[in-house]
Amino acid sequence: MRAAIDYGGTYARVWLSGEEGIERFDTPSWPLTRLLEHLKARYPSLRETAVAYAGQVYEGLILSAPNIDIDEPDIVRWAETSLRVKLRIENDLNCAALAESHYWNEPNLVALYSGTGLGAGIVERGAIFHGYRGMAGEIGHIPYQRAPFRCGCGKDNCLELHASGNGLRRWREHLGCGCDFRLDTMRRAGGSCREIADFFIMGMVYAAATLATLCNPRLIVLGGGIVAKNPWLADRVSELLPRYAMPAALEGLRLEISAIKEAPLEGAKLLLDTIKP
Ligand SMILES: [Zn+2]
Repeated sequence: MRAAIDYGGTYARVWLSGEEGIERFDTPSWPLTRLLEHLKARYPSLRETAVAYAGQVYEGLILSAPNIDIDEPDIVRWAETSLRVKLRIENDLNCAALAESHYWNEPNLVALYSGTGLGAGIVERGAIFHGYRGMAGEIGHIPYQRAPFRCGCGKDNCLELHASGNGLRRWREHLGCGCDFRLDTMRRAGGSCREIADFFIMGMVYAAATLATLCNPRLIVLGGGIVAKNPWLADRVSELLPRYAMPAALEGLRLEISAIKEAPLEGAKLLLDTIKP
């Protein structure tokens, strides 16, 4: 039996495949070791697992996670020695990018996701681009404009403070705007709501333009919860992109909205296929 897991700060999605067929369920975010022990106890034939993890991961080690208490950094070795389970683990956005690359059949791609946070996964010639310590693609934390509150990373000028769900929530609290996460209704409401929505849109344009210029992908896929609520963003970002991106980097570049329902989990399933039995 094999399992793919999308492991976030407040939930875990589990997909299981075995002789009995396919099963899928959500759990609260138990510590990862406890979740794996639980799965192994319930399914003793579990041999291979892949995890899309909401944190910094490099070569099987969990290095940091903003919203998760890390119970076992060396999770690959732990799973192998304690449970006899072969495990692959990757950052969740990297998994999403892998899934997008597979879905669009595009080996040079950037996935730009705005959900709770803002981040990107880069796929270069079909492989995830990690950087030295797995931190590549952290577009949410490049300097953009100062905000009257701080980011989880400690700075007060991160792009994520303007172009993510968390950013929207904090701006709404700060300016007392009562709108939901639909940017078009926020724009129509005018006043500070419109200001917050316009800041968000320009933040997404800035992120896409920076990634286009820096990574020169053939396809940028916009995804994540906030993008799903505002699918017209793709047209708006496409329209404004030439103002910010280097012209040569726009040649042959396409922009799409994600069509995958649970991209990190789908990416984890793809990772399963890379585990040698
Ligand atoms: Zn930051």
